[in-house]
Amino acid sequence: MNPKALRGMNDILPEASATWRHVESIVQQVIESYGFREIRVPIMEHTEVFARAIGGDTDIVEKEMYSFKDRNDESLTLRPEGTAGMVRAGITNGLFHNQRQKLWTFGPMFRYEKPQKGRFRQFHQFDVEAFGYPGPDIDAELMILCARLWHELGLSRLTLEINSLGTEHSRAKYVQELVKYFSAVKNQLDEDSIRRLEKNPLRILDSKNPDMQELITSAPVMTDFLDAESAEHFEACKVLLEAAGVAYKVNPRLVRGLDYYNLTVFEWVTDALGAQGAVCAGGRYDGLVEKLGGRATPAVGWAMGVERLVALFETCGGKTENTAVDVYIVAVGESAFARALETAENLRDQIRSIKVEVNLGGGSFKSQLKRADKSGASFAVILGEEEVARNEAGLKPLRSREHQVNVAMNNLAAEVASRLNS
Ligand code: ATP
Ligand code: MG
Repeated sequence: MNPKALRGMNDILPEASATWRHVESIVQQVIESYGFREIRVPIMEHTEVFARAIGGDTDIVEKEMYSFKDRNDESLTLRPEGTAGMVRAGITNGLFHNQRQKLWTFGPMFRYEKPQKGRFRQFHQFDVEAFGYPGPDIDAELMILCARLWHELGLSRLTLEINSLGTEHSRAKYVQELVKYFSAVKNQLDEDSIRRLEKNPLRILDSKNPDMQELITSAPVMTDFLDAESAEHFEACKVLLEAAGVAYKVNPRLVRGLDYYNLTVFEWVTDALGAQGAVCAGGRYDGLVEKLGGRATPAVGWAMGVERLVALFETCGGKTENTAVDVYIVAVGESAFARALETAENLRDQIRSIKVEVNLGGGSFKSQLKRADKSGASFAVILGEEEVARNEAGLKPLRSREHQVNVAMNNLAAEVASRLNS
């Protein structure tokens, strides 16, 4: 058998995972600096949870979900996004009743898409969601958090696009206008759009079909139909962004690919990654908790695509810490090897977060030193019969021209520590 990887599902190899961990740790740290707390939820739910939350006329539910029957004949789905599962978990665990919650999660998502650059079938998202906050202040804070994150990661070339989808009431009026407009040009619509014209006209604006873009550009815009409440919410959000110095552009065609949004929606996009330029997207979804069976709870959040984030980090010249070991222990002879394992434990005991690799599987001095060099270690600690007899170790700098020195065993940790720190 020649095992094949699944299409669109990537292995993240050690070189790459170092960058991922670096990026992830900064994202987590920034998210938590705004008072969000981590929640971990299963990567599968009853299909119904996603179908109801995301909406039947969306790309995700229509053609992208990994759904299957389990052994009990129940329809389950690998999560295509994080919000629905978080809302389900909040309802199940009574997190929303008379409470406010700021939650985040991270993990793999699954969508049966056409794999291409920046678009995969298993990909990863950070999800940040706030429940119980009705005002525009949290909408703005969620975007300000992103701006801080770009700064911390050293990212440039990201712009913020915002829009308001209005309240349900004001959207209904707009949708009427939209239907009028698209019906008049029905013969120019693609198949998906014709179907959506009946079922969910707003979705047409989210079409990725290039042939549809001209029609979409000339369509009426939501911002002309906002009622007083929606307009006020949108204005307040903009004022807060301006006060925080976060630049934005109003994009009246931004509707997002999921059904549950209302009022504020936004996307952070970059021109640095080619066609797949959306790095982070979100908005308000005040109706979703109730739709999934909980009490009405205002909610807003965003999801960030980590593959695209890491790609942008690399494009912007982001550097990751060296993941090589600090010390490689070379030991020739039986008694020396026994001493090597002991020495390694001592170093780990005495120097916080030091990385030590002991040469396993024997070999000559020469071959062990070769491995030491290849390991990327800063120093080789050398133990031969002579050193062991004198209760010493050789300390050989591998990344400089400095000479090897002999160090008394009980001084080794202090000597290594001071050299690693300098
Ligand atoms: P797109 O318009 O690129 O299809 P979307 O609107 O479907 O994105 P969301 O559901 O809002 O995306 O997901 C939030 C983020 O997750 C996106 O902005 C993107 O960074 C990332 N993302 C979505 N789908 C994929 C995928 N198939 N592969 C990699 N990243 C993805
Ligand atoms: Mg999509």
